[in-house]
Amino acid sequence: MAAKTLGPTSIRTSSTSTGITARDAVAQDDNAPRALYPFIPFYRADVGPDEIAAVVECLQSGWITTGPLAHKLEHDVASAVGAAYAVAVNSCTAALHLALNVLGVGPGDEVITTPMTFCSTAEVIEYLGAKPVFADIDPDTLNISPKAVSKAITDRTKVIMPVHYGGHPCDMDEIMAIAQDAGANVVEDAAHAIGASYRGRPIGSIGDITCFSFYATKNVTTAEGGMLVTNNQEWADHARRLSLHGIDRDAWKRYRRDGSWEYDVVDLGFKYNLPDVLAAIGLAQLQRLEEANAVRRAYAQMYDRAFAEVPELDVLNVRPYVTPSRHLYIILLHLDKLSIGRAEFIEQLKALNVGTSVHFKPVHLHSYYMEKYGFRKGDFPTAENAYERLISLPLYPGMTQGDLNHVIWAVKEIIARHRR
Ligand SMILES: *Cc1c(COP(=O)(O)O)cnc(C)c1O
Repeated sequence: MAAKTLGPTSIRTSSTSTGITARDAVAQDDNAPRALYPFIPFYRADVGPDEIAAVVECLQSGWITTGPLAHKLEHDVASAVGAAYAVAVNSCTAALHLALNVLGVGPGDEVITTPMTFCSTAEVIEYLGAKPVFADIDPDTLNISPKAVSKAITDRTKVIMPVHYGGHPCDMDEIMAIAQDAGANVVEDAAHAIGASYRGRPIGSIGDITCFSFYATKNVTTAEGGMLVTNNQEWADHARRLSLHGIDRDAWKRYRRDGSWEYDVVDLGFKYNLPDVLAAIGLAQLQRLEEANAVRRAYAQMYDRAFAEVPELDVLNVRPYVTPSRHLYIILLHLDKLSIGRAEFIEQLKALNVGTSVHFKPVHLHSYYMEKYGFRKGDFPTAENAYERLISLPLYPGMTQGDLNHVIWAVKEIIARHRR
């Protein structure tokens, strides 16, 4: 997907469409006390009149669960990401679970993934009784390192599950080649990466199966939701069946005039279908995806420029051959150059009215995984080092230019106060 040039209206200079607010007044007055700047949440859903109208229309239609809108969303996502088939589900976790399921992952199998991810990625491996095998990350993108993946391959490796961290595509050519040599499949956790592309190929068109998240904070949201895409019809049909109790065919049609009351359960399935009232939100969101991602990229570049000359922090590298979806904006503190720690830095940002988050505490350091597999600190040093230093700053299309300027000011102000 080519990056579109931004129109003058894409970046918001005002926080409302109706005029200047107190927020904007402070933002636009360099002499106003910065402490007066209103709180900038880490995230605010970018939903507006189109989403509201689509939901109302769905509610008024009398058909609110899985139906024509979920199917339209499948069709539209598949074509946006260059995949032949798509199955809408109620979370990315569900999509990842179904993906491993249709690939036949089970006890005795190993699935290689990154420790630098949300717990979902590892959890679905556990659901199937397989073993999560972590491979450490590259320090400059925080994506799984192909070299580390190579080293983690055994004859039990069934699937490699890269995560496009923050919406920056992983080194897919290397990962696909390693998988092919090992006779393993590739399932991409693309929770952050809708609209991203790698060497001109959209994420969704590369691995065996790709899973997207429509969780509230993600680049496209349905409040809660997800999508599995693949070019393999058999896997798509199987995933669709499993997403609705293992029922043999389009069970959602059974209450329609062309449906039938009769159905057969042919598999042990799950209750993972995406309702139309949520798909309606997604359809409206998808219309704006390219523009929203372009605003994210523009804001991320402004952060990059503002922080380029700040020796107390690092920002992530963007490979020249990718178009990232910029789901997250990460700074990595040089704690040796500061007199405060990361937790205190976050507290001070909050005191200056900037909301932040941390993505992620490495999965192997969560109690469940430490206790079950005996992981300990030091097992994946690059991920651990990044985790200890990182802060996710607000980055979303609903931010104004003033909001962005305030975040930049706040980060630099705290550094100036605590420089060593
Ligand atoms: C959000 C997220 C998920 C899970 O998505 P849900 O739709 O909430 O299930 C999986 N992996 C990563 C990397 C995520 O950030």
